[in-house]
Amino acid sequence: MRDRRIVRLGLVVILAASAAVALDRASGPAGEPSTSTRAGTAHGAGAGERGHTPYPRAGAGAFTTADGDSPVLGADGPLRRYRVAVEQGTGQDAAAFAAAVDGVLGDRRSWIASEELRMQRVAEADAADFTVYLATPDTSERMCAEGGLSTEGYTSCRLPGQVIINLARWLEAVPDYGAPLEIYRAYVVNHEVGHELGEGHQACPGPGEPAPVMQQQTYGLEGCAANAWPYVDGSRHEGDPVPGI
Ligand SMILES: [Zn+2]
Repeated sequence: MRDRRIVRLGLVVILAASAAVALDRASGPAGEPSTSTRAGTAHGAGAGERGHTPYPRAGAGAFTTADGDSPVLGADGPLRRYRVAVEQGTGQDAAAFAAAVDGVLGDRRSWIASEELRMQRVAEADAADFTVYLATPDTSERMCAEGGLSTEGYTSCRLPGQVIINLARWLEAVPDYGAPLEIYRAYVVNHEVGHELGEGHQACPGPGEPAPVMQQQTYGLEGCAANAWPYVDGSRHEGDPVPGI
């Protein structure tokens, strides 16, 4: 009852976390009733970190693809083309998100350091091997679930041809990550794109060591230090393979 009263009032400010979740869901397409009662549980561990970056929990699922091409990133190897798309209604700018993704994938510590592949962002009209999406928690959960992956609206995921970044994690990272937001952002892009390049999960190699980029750092560092990059000090940094997607 409390939530319904708040929705009627149309407030869109940050209130208590549970009320904010309900409000976020109510801000979807006009006329769509707010029916969810599970959003609070899905939000889970991130709720305590909220406060300074309001964002919608749900969106209509329509995306804007960033215009233009990036330079070819990397020195050698076959070219992998990607698009970048941002869900409409998130308040996020497609060009700005694309620039962030380009900056990560073009970094000399990223996958191109292998010199076995190059990358380039392309426009919507051009052929692409995969798309990097920035999507609200609910939309990302739905997209990932279509491929059989359960994210509980919390983590990001990758499906063939689709790298799906959860807006909540993009804006908030995770509690106790131990590194600036920009590091988490670079991690999540490199990790999910790593899956697209065929990489599986890896374990923390030992206490205090950099976490491999294919470690599931969103779920905890297991004694490792936050690390965003496949290459550390010029060498590929890896841990033992662990099962799972
Ligand atoms: Zn993963």
